[in-house]
This record gives sequence, C-alpha cells and structure tokens, in this order.
Amino acid sequence: MIYDLIIVGGGPAGLTASIYALRAGMKVLLVERMMPGGQVAQTTKIENYPGFESIDGLELSMKMHAQAEKLGLEIEYADVLEYELNNEIKKIRTYSNVFEAKSLILALGASAKQLNVANEKKFIGRGLSYCATCDGSFFKDKIVAIVGGGNTSLEDCIYLSGIAKKVYLIHRRDTFRGEQANVANFTKILNQENSNVSQILNSTIIELIGENKLEGIILENKVNGEKTKLNLDGLFVAIGRKPDTELLKDILKLNSNGYIITDEKMRTSIQGVFAAGDVREKSLRQIVTACSDGAIAAISAFEFIKGG
Ligand code: NAP
Repeated sequence: MIYDLIIVGGGPAGLTASIYALRAGMKVLLVERMMPGGQVAQTTKIENYPGFESIDGLELSMKMHAQAEKLGLEIEYADVLEYELNNEIKKIRTYSNVFEAKSLILALGASAKQLNVANEKKFIGRGLSYCATCDGSFFKDKIVAIVGGGNTSLEDCIYLSGIAKKVYLIHRRDTFRGEQANVANFTKILNQENSNVSQILNSTIIELIGENKLEGIILENKVNGEKTKLNLDGLFVAIGRKPDTELLKDILKLNSNGYIITDEKMRTSIQGVFAAGDVREKSLRQIVTACSDGAIAAISAFEFIKGG
C-alpha cells in the first residue's frame, strides 16, 4: 500500500496535519512513538489555546486525536528507525515494517533539555516546568527561579517578573549566552529600584527538594564550592531544546541547532517532504503555531501530490 501522506509525530502539528489531509481526501498514516499529543499531553493546564479558557493538556490532545480518528486516521505506534526520502516514493522503516507514501510530514517535536538531577521527573507539573510562557501564570505572587543563561531564560525571567513575587535567574557561568539586547533588558529590570529579580551566577542546581511538590533547591557555587538552599514555589528550566532530528542530519537541510529549515509552505530541502511544529526552525513554539504549521503542511502535501 502506498499512502498519499505519512505523518511522523502525533503532537498538535501532526494531528492537525492529519485532520486537514483527511478532509482533503488523502489516504493518511500517522506514525507515533508513544501516545498522541506529544509534549502537550504531559502539560497539566493550558490557558493560551483559543476557544478553551483552561484545558488539561491530555484532554486537548485526546480531543484532537478523537477528531482525527473520526475522519478515519490510521495510526501506527512505532519508532522510525530509518528514512529514505530522495526517491519519488518516500519510505520509512520501523522495527517491524516499511511504510511508503507519496509525501511525508515530519512533525517530530523538540524536547526541553533536562537538568539531569535526581527526582526531576517526579516534580514535573508539581512546581517544575520547562515552559514559562505555558505555566508562568500558575505562579502569580509566588517565588520562582529560572535556570539557564540563553535568550529563553533571559526573556522568561522578564516575563515571570511581571507575574511572580520574586524571580531568581540561576546561571552556571558569569556571562550570558543570550544576545546583547536581551542581556540589556534583563539588566535593566535587575537594577531597577525594588526589583523583584535577583541573579545567582556561577551556580548549578544539584538537588531538588520537596515531598509531593517542589519546595526548594540546593545550589552549588562553582567558584567556591559553597552549597546553599533556596526555598521556591516554582522552578523553570530553560537550558535549551533538542529536536529529534538525529536520523535526518545527513538527509535534510537543518540549522546549526538541528531544527529543520522550511519555507513558508513548510517545504523542506527535499521535494515532497514537509516539516511542521517544534521541529522546524521558527520563532514561537506554541500549540497554536504547531497547529498552524500542520494545516499548511497538509495542504502543501495535497498540492504536491496533485502536481500543483
Ligand atoms: P541556549 O541558547 O542553548 O542556552 C542554554 C543555556 O542554558 C546556556 O546559557 C547554557 O549555559 C545553559 N545550560 C545548558 N545546559 C545546562 C545545564 N545542564 N545546567 C545549567 N545550565 C545549562 O538555549 P535557549 O535559550 O533555549 O535558546 C535556544 C535557541 O533559540 C538559541 O539559538 C537562541 O538564540 C534562540 N532563541 C532566540 C530568541 C530570540 O531571539 N528572541 C528567544 C529564545 C530563543 P552556557 O551558556 O554555560 O552554555
């Protein structure tokens, strides 16, 4: 069987692509590693997806999945082990099968890098978050910290300073990786009179403390080895993200961080291969932008196989 379209990845980008492609009459297979929803399914509350004032991430994922299934979506639960994309018929190999299609959408997502400290998984959604834009509002008037020294942590720190009572920026060095404009904005807020922002430099987090939810952290100063305890309601980790594109690095055009480069029609460097969602090089990684990518990619794939 040769599908019109194979979508790899069942997060919001992949599921939206499947809805648009099925509605356009395409024969679609979605290949997903775990469960539909991707990162969203692990998010406790979503309050920035239009139409839902507040919705559980798993519930939103299940709604998208149910909508696609109603349209007849076929799903294969498997890891893709190999891609063969240069011929007219695109092939993907899983552990037990080879699937073929006239077009392919890569909606592989990108996952936040983890701190790799004990108990990290236990506190996710219980005071520990990897997305300040998504979860910051749950920490109104609370004490939070953000870890990282890149653009994301600097921007998130400024964002959180407008919500939380107190924000600590924790960075492992004494100079920031983020660009000058972001460092300047951060420094301005840091130096304001009665600022609610403090920086803790040359320090790493070596322990997360708490029973059922995060209550604090242990920091180690890299210069003098001193260990200190910091009480917190929330910790945001912004130490970079990693797209799952290892298998594609010699096949497709990626940027220096491994994200897939596309044009505005979601076309990659290979004809008939499209990318959508967080795996793409883009400026705002949110559910709503992933859905938008998915819709565009599906219509582009439709036009491609119709010779448009
Ligand atoms: P990033 O630029 O990779 O920065 C990650 C930061 O986390 C670095 O400061 C790094 O420290 C630190 N870090 C890494 N591993 C760590 C660990 N295990 N423990 C403690 N700290 C650790 O990531 P990002 O800020 O998410 O940005 C990702 C990309 O998106 C970048 O290219 C960035 O420019 C871009 N971006 C741009 C904008 C914008 O232009 N407005 C906004 C957001 C993101 P070191 O510095 O010591 O390595």
